[in-house]
Amino acid sequence: GKVDTQCDLLVLGAGPGGYSAAFRAADLGLNVVLVERYATLGGVCLNVGCIPSKALLHTAAVLEEAQALEAHGISFAKPKIDLDKLRAFKDGVIGKLTGGLAGMAKARKVTVIQGLGEFVTANHLSVKTDQGLQTIAFGQAIIAAGSQSVKLPFMPADDRVVDSTGALLLRSIPKKMLIVGGGIIGLEMGTVYSALGSRLDVVEMQDGLMQGADRDLVKVWQKMNGHRFDHLMLKTKTVAAEAKKDGIYVTFEGEGAPKEAQRYDLVLQAVGRVPNGKKIGAERAGVAVTERGFIEVDRQMRTNVPNIFAIGDIVGQPMLAHKAVHEGHVAAEAAAGQKSFFDARVIPSVAYTDPEIAWVGLTEDQAKQEGIAVTKGIFPWAASGRAIANGRDEGFTKLLFDATSHKILGGGIVGTHAGDLIGEVALAIEMGADAVDIGKTIHPHPTLGESIGLAAEAAEGHCTDLP
Ligand code: FAD
Repeated sequence: GKVDTQCDLLVLGAGPGGYSAAFRAADLGLNVVLVERYATLGGVCLNVGCIPSKALLHTAAVLEEAQALEAHGISFAKPKIDLDKLRAFKDGVIGKLTGGLAGMAKARKVTVIQGLGEFVTANHLSVKTDQGLQTIAFGQAIIAAGSQSVKLPFMPADDRVVDSTGALLLRSIPKKMLIVGGGIIGLEMGTVYSALGSRLDVVEMQDGLMQGADRDLVKVWQKMNGHRFDHLMLKTKTVAAEAKKDGIYVTFEGEGAPKEAQRYDLVLQAVGRVPNGKKIGAERAGVAVTERGFIEVDRQMRTNVPNIFAIGDIVGQPMLAHKAVHEGHVAAEAAAGQKSFFDARVIPSVAYTDPEIAWVGLTEDQAKQEGIAVTKGIFPWAASGRAIANGRDEGFTKLLFDATSHKILGGGIVGTHAGDLIGEVALAIEMGADAVDIGKTIHPHPTLGESIGLAAEAAEGHCTDLP
């Protein structure tokens, strides 16, 4: 057939994985075409994920912090909320970033083609553009087509039933909101709506919220956030829902289930994400896709087809932007002939709730399950001058060390800005630091970051003498 565009490297999908791969490959001298169905670059993360959620969470945290100043003798009137302006602020944040990406693509001479792409062969992709079907011939390709949210089959098609994308639209402030799924995404959105005035219910099939994080971290969050929830239903699932004039009526089953259907003004489905592997014509390129839609790759991010790589959410858990970016760089470098491998030891996780919960590497629960002998160092923020001065001393920093070598294996932090702090723990793990290395590193005083050095000291049996 006719070929409209030819390139060294085709990248399918312009999320954090795709744009990072495209830019790195262009920097390494490859001629790159980036195919994206939507008008803006940035994928889920910039347009309907990480960034808009953080813009709203920042607003929510400042609002609640301002209200908490009442205890310091400063009070404000009840906040007036102009949703149109808040939405415009959030959209402005997105616009700055996606606009920046478009500029970066141009500066690197990456050709961006807007349209839905599908593989035709292992060297051809067809794209449905506004101007009709285009065929791109490529030497190598990187699949970065991401994931989308899971929809529960029995949920009615109704404006009042949304996924995270719908929740981020911020159409109205519901009086009563149900969050289906007690993971990071659901609880982040719940935090936003609660700060704006919604009452929350949450339903989770497992026996605890925020699976993956150690329970001691989650407990602190839960104590601080209990006031937001009317019903916190664990080991419970939604089994039916009906749209009526006055609300969505949801029926539950399980240990925490109320007997009768409950009425909600808004229902947020946040029960996970599925990879887009089955939607890109992968079979015509010979790329193997698992039953669930994931694409398997080796440590160079190469699929079973040697000239085709895959990265990001579509290759598996954890579905996180920083993982996608890192994999994008590995794949681009490998495509450019470098000997790059994915050899990161750890990938940090953060819930940007209030307080934040962040963890990296081995968790305490994992250590117990796998019988790994660890020495634990904990520094309670109740002993941190900075946390007390901030009026937020509920948190703590926990580090886990190999019991014999004292090398750091993992860490967890709950408290304000925990997400900004966890990077140091990730670096320590990557560098193979031990408790003495971390404890003897001079941290600035008074900062929350000191808690990392002090937790390491605690693990070495030193008592902490810094307020
Ligand atoms: P995506 O970002 O999903 O991008 C894939 C792109 O491919 C999309 O733009 C899509 O339109 C395009 N595409 C797909 N198929 C085709 C096709 N056939 N043709 C053309 N284009 C196609 N992660 C974090 O690390 N931190 C956070 O704080 C965070 N917050 C989140 C909050 C929410 C509400 C959500 C939903 C997610 C959040 N995530 C967060 C997860 C993060 O967004 C994803 O891990 C990340 O976007 C994955 O990047 P990706 O490049 O693999 O794919």
